[in-house]
Amino acid sequence: MDAAPFLPPVFDAHVDSLQRAVDLDHDLGTLTSGHLDLVRGREGGLASVVFVSWVDPAYMAKGPGSARRRTDDLLDAYHVLVENHPEQVRAVVDGAGLDSAREDGVIAAIAGIEGGHSIEESLEYLEHYHRRGVRMMTLVWNNHLSWVRSCQAGAGPEIPDGLSSFGREVVQRMNQLGMVVDVSHASEKAFYDALEVSTQPIVASHSGCAAIHSHVRNLSDAQLRDLASAGGVVGVVFCTSFLDGDAGALERGERESEAYRALSHDNETGLFHLQADHLQATLPPLCMERVVDHVLHAVEVCGIRHVGVGSDFDGIQRRPEGLEDASCYGHLAQALLRRGLNEDDVCAVMGGNMARVFRAVTA
Ligand SMILES: [Zn+2]
Repeated sequence: MDAAPFLPPVFDAHVDSLQRAVDLDHDLGTLTSGHLDLVRGREGGLASVVFVSWVDPAYMAKGPGSARRRTDDLLDAYHVLVENHPEQVRAVVDGAGLDSAREDGVIAAIAGIEGGHSIEESLEYLEHYHRRGVRMMTLVWNNHLSWVRSCQAGAGPEIPDGLSSFGREVVQRMNQLGMVVDVSHASEKAFYDALEVSTQPIVASHSGCAAIHSHVRNLSDAQLRDLASAGGVVGVVFCTSFLDGDAGALERGERESEAYRALSHDNETGLFHLQADHLQATLPPLCMERVVDHVLHAVEVCGIRHVGVGSDFDGIQRRPEGLEDASCYGHLAQALLRRGLNEDDVCAVMGGNMARVFRAVTA
């Protein structure tokens, strides 16, 4: 009889699947379309996962309270998921929760927020989300805020280079509350400001290595080293356009095509997934070895204890071949073994390292 394939417990530091629950009425406790649900997660060895609430910045234009309401709607979906499927998943807020979920064989679901615009410049809102179970927040998404600059171009003169004094307060309050500070999407200065202010290790939950592909969403070797020196972890992302320049160019080209432009749906999340399916079906696959390249480079620069996984499933469109959905994490683990990591090291990357930071910060 063949031995079962190596399948380490996975801690995925960033997925966007809650939007499907809210906008498309998908029950993530059942087999769905899209990239991640609990059924496929279990198949792939998913032990812990950060379900983020990401709010389209368009909500900010709808007036005060709109971004918060949308964040709460997404958080409601997180709580409904764990309430409806206790045999599969549990809401977890600390290391003890990780342990008990593991003992009972259920997935540890951690609530996160992607983008500080959800707090609408209010520490009270931050505290409100903490009370609702949020234990990780990506300080900024691709939209610049009055208190933190994103990695994207186009910031006006009113935007600080890094964190403003209020931005520093946000990081301090997150430290006090026991929330993991996430610097994916942050400008280089905001990254370093967060590193300087935070008394706890921080993470870049879903990013890649700029040395392999120079992209605004990836981290330089200096950033990787400094993140690791402060005890942090980078979660390598599965987004093909961040991983590989040629893949990004192909995608940009396809987005100009008539077939792509003709796609339509009655809500943005539905359209996003139609586009994802189109790109996945139309373009030649990106080899999974490219993900391995990023992981191994990060390991070389940061050390084995400072690299993890943040797929960004349901928040990205085209995925690498063999990593199309949450049933596939084992393929990455097996590829890392083939490329020379031992089983302990692969376990650290696939889950152990992120879990360590989550435990430390939420303790
Ligand atoms: Zn993101």
